[in-house]
Amino acid sequence: VIALGQPQREVLTTCAYCGVGCSFVAELQGDRVVRMTPYKDGKANHGHSCVKGRFAWGYATHRDRITTPMIRASIDEPWREVTWEEAIAHAASEFKRIQAKYGRGAIGGITSSRCTNEETYLVQKLIRAGFGNNNTDTCARVCHSPTGYGLKTAFGTSAGTQDFDSVMQADVIMVIGANPTDAHPVFASQMKRRLRQGARLIVVDPRRIDLVRTPHVEAAHHLQLRPGTNVALINALAHVVVTEGLVNEAFVAERCDPVDFGIWREFILRPENAPEAVAAITGVPAAEIRAAARLYATGGNAAIYYGLGVTEHSQGSTMVMGMANLAMITGNLGRPGVGINPLRGQNNVQGSCDMGSFPHEFPGYRHVSDDAVRRAFEAEWGVPLDPEPGLRIPNMFDAALDGSFKGLYVQGEDIAQSDPNTQHVTAALRAMECVVVQDLFLNETASFAHVFLPGASFLEKDGTFTNAERRINRVRQAMKPLSGMADWEVTMALSNAMGYPMHYSHPSEIMDEIARLTPTFAGVSYELLDRVGSVQWPCNEAAPEGTPVMHMGGFVRGKGRLMVTAYVPTEERTGPRFPLLLTTGRILTQYNVGAQTRRTANVTWHDEDVLEIHPHDAEQRGIRDGDLVALSSRIGETSLRARISERVQPGVVYTTFHHPESGANVVTTEFSDWATNCPEYKVTAVEVRPTNRW
Ligand code: SF4
Repeated sequence: VIALGQPQREVLTTCAYCGVGCSFVAELQGDRVVRMTPYKDGKANHGHSCVKGRFAWGYATHRDRITTPMIRASIDEPWREVTWEEAIAHAASEFKRIQAKYGRGAIGGITSSRCTNEETYLVQKLIRAGFGNNNTDTCARVCHSPTGYGLKTAFGTSAGTQDFDSVMQADVIMVIGANPTDAHPVFASQMKRRLRQGARLIVVDPRRIDLVRTPHVEAAHHLQLRPGTNVALINALAHVVVTEGLVNEAFVAERCDPVDFGIWREFILRPENAPEAVAAITGVPAAEIRAAARLYATGGNAAIYYGLGVTEHSQGSTMVMGMANLAMITGNLGRPGVGINPLRGQNNVQGSCDMGSFPHEFPGYRHVSDDAVRRAFEAEWGVPLDPEPGLRIPNMFDAALDGSFKGLYVQGEDIAQSDPNTQHVTAALRAMECVVVQDLFLNETASFAHVFLPGASFLEKDGTFTNAERRINRVRQAMKPLSGMADWEVTMALSNAMGYPMHYSHPSEIMDEIARLTPTFAGVSYELLDRVGSVQWPCNEAAPEGTPVMHMGGFVRGKGRLMVTAYVPTEERTGPRFPLLLTTGRILTQYNVGAQTRRTANVTWHDEDVLEIHPHDAEQRGIRDGDLVALSSRIGETSLRARISERVQPGVVYTTFHHPESGANVVTTEFSDWATNCPEYKVTAVEVRPTNRW
């Protein structure tokens, strides 16, 4: 229970949970935060908030916080508390020893979508300039990397096309593989306001999410497809648009590459893309597909909002391009109320991608092999840079197991819990000689670490987060870092100890450097953010106060590119041993692996993950509501409690992944998106049986 009183000071900052990026006023008594109040002028939230942002900040001072650096010679030994100097020196000397023995490419790092833009920028700079390789990747690899690939291919830039407020001008809203009510609650409220005003709703989801029918809102169509069949469905929608003469010919002629359109048109007219053929693949009746396609194409402004139910598939990137195709042929781009809008999971997924976390791209999505871009970074950073892309996260794990990758710096990401096929990840971590974890808590990954560097919570930081609508929001320090060091200072100290000097006295100087090197951030500064509140990139000479809606006069790449998006079934198949398909999601009151929400004492949170199973499948297996069940796949097995529910279809089960005890990723597979290696979390063949084990 928090004793509330008159705050002695207030600090305007940004929520560190989801990609909506709500602005809050942190109210303090002394150095203690006593209340978080949604900021009425916050441009992403307009004074609204959800339960997480408003109440779940107690983790920042939870007793589990580690505030003293620690080291150990091996993961079988107990931790030993040391000074910051000793911890940094030890990590740097281990990394240098590994590079001397195994080569420059034997180490790398993973940036965090929870950290600020400035912190993320600094980690990738340390890796490229200090480690001398491009072995940098981000936890966005496992969520929205297909968004980056697909949208860049179609339009030329890796970001959502509209601002949140634009939804108020949408006439048709298509929600694909997203559950905004639970995962993006403040934006979901805005979307529901528009739906209550009369906008029509199409939901594409294997599960009957709340949005399908909620007070005063009912979806016109719920296309309840089988997990793993998104691409077949999006192709069928496009097939209907073309065969029924609903293409926006003027838009296509003016805005799209004619050669690509011609090739694509021939592809989409093939009989395998017809609704009747696709109905057999997806389980969605052909008439329903036709009706949804007509509504999307003819209902006025049509906007697509999507989430990880699109990206976390073996065809995640294909599906992103399929949605882009559909929007282009119907002219639903380049004005308010339309577009392709990814709902980013974590607070700074967009920013961590923007800041050059991927192994093949500098900040601003420019390829490392681009000589002119690389020369600009070499001139600013003062060292030669590698023109070859580095290792992605799954490649790092594979390289660790074959003995060529030995050292890893992980900032703010619990890869041992959040990445798929946990057994493979932990075997890779065990095979490394130096794992450095920087985090608030001793997370699962820290069990395999040799150096632990305490991290700082958002309340202890100065910097910026970029939300799902490309909005750069200021994060302001409400209290001093409990460990005495801000995250950017830790990265800077590690870089200096590695022999690559960095000298910043405040995160604003890091942002100034980002602006000098990144054309889409050229106009961004703390002075501007303090003056106008927040801006959406691109922010530069052409758009000094940002860009709410992209691709207005033309696409960033010039002509829009329609891509052939053939449906290829996932290699993950059901069979006699594993006859059900598991898909995963989130609940409102928890956040990802629960590291923060589970450590918040001032509200009652759900206390376990449950497995939703259809009554028919439950009856066949003798499972009653509330029974403990074993959930097994060919990868592994875990236990959790069953909830009998008609939200899922027969043959499909569903769970969340907020608690390490149930460990859904123990069962998820090694399959991933063909273009980006984003794991296929959403499709796992499983069996469920009653069990007494817990
Ligand atoms: Fe925070 Fe997202 Fe909730 Fe807003 S909607 S308060 S950003 S968790």
